[in-house]
Amino acid sequence: MKLILLGAPGAGKGTQAERIAAKLGIPTISTGNILREAIANGTEIGLRAKGFMDQGQLVPDDVIIGIVRERLSQPDCAKGYILDGMPRTIPQAQALEDAGIHFDCVVSMEIDDAVIERRMTGRRVCLACGASYHVEANPPKTADVCDHCGKPLSVRKDDAPETVRSRLAVYHRETEPLKGFYEKLGNLKLVDGNQPIADITAAILRAIGA
Ligand code: ADP
Ligand code: AMP
Repeated sequence: MKLILLGAPGAGKGTQAERIAAKLGIPTISTGNILREAIANGTEIGLRAKGFMDQGQLVPDDVIIGIVRERLSQPDCAKGYILDGMPRTIPQAQALEDAGIHFDCVVSMEIDDAVIERRMTGRRVCLACGASYHVEANPPKTADVCDHCGKPLSVRKDDAPETVRSRLAVYHRETEPLKGFYEKLGNLKLVDGNQPIADITAAILRAIGA
């Protein structure tokens, strides 16, 4: 199963990717998590990406395409994977197609812009394992500690309201057109992202026939 989760920042892609990946036994590839790890490790890619991310802009396509190509060639991707946060532009989607990588299903998680800001202000993330929590809707068992790896949780710098507004504008301009791209390929499914977390998981599993 090769699956893409599309959606605005804060739509719940990371939250759902974690649940679906556990259910299907395939890895999630989150470009945002890979880039945050690169920044934390001070790598060349991290240094190149940081300015774009802090401002809520997209990291250049060539950087992302290189990272994803490398990651998808690893053995754990052989049985399938979930892409979370990639592709985000038509050239990224085209690069996947050109590499002969075709997706069983592309799920677009539809959510109103008005809901996003509340989700982002309550988001807490684990920089060690990439897990995403919300102080009210999906709290960790112990405040500010990751359930999975026990590391402290952080607030993402780009979840500040003014950066979230830039990221939403970028989403509508650069990423939303991907819905038309995949609709033409015949593998697009829409899921209502305004529901409780467990209901969305069930809707995605139905959409992908799992
Ligand atoms: P994305 O990966 O699309 O940016 P996340 O999965 O990190 O989004 O979710 C953004 C925030 O909203 C997190 O704090 C998460 O816990 C919370 N969240 C995710 N799905 C829901 C939901 N269905 N209802 C309420 N809050 C949610
Ligand atoms: P995310 O964790 O998916 O919200 O991504 C956080 C930030 O990382 C984005 O705002 C971008 O700056 C960058 N990023 C992540 N994935 C991509 C991508 N596929 N293309 C370009 N930039 C990306």
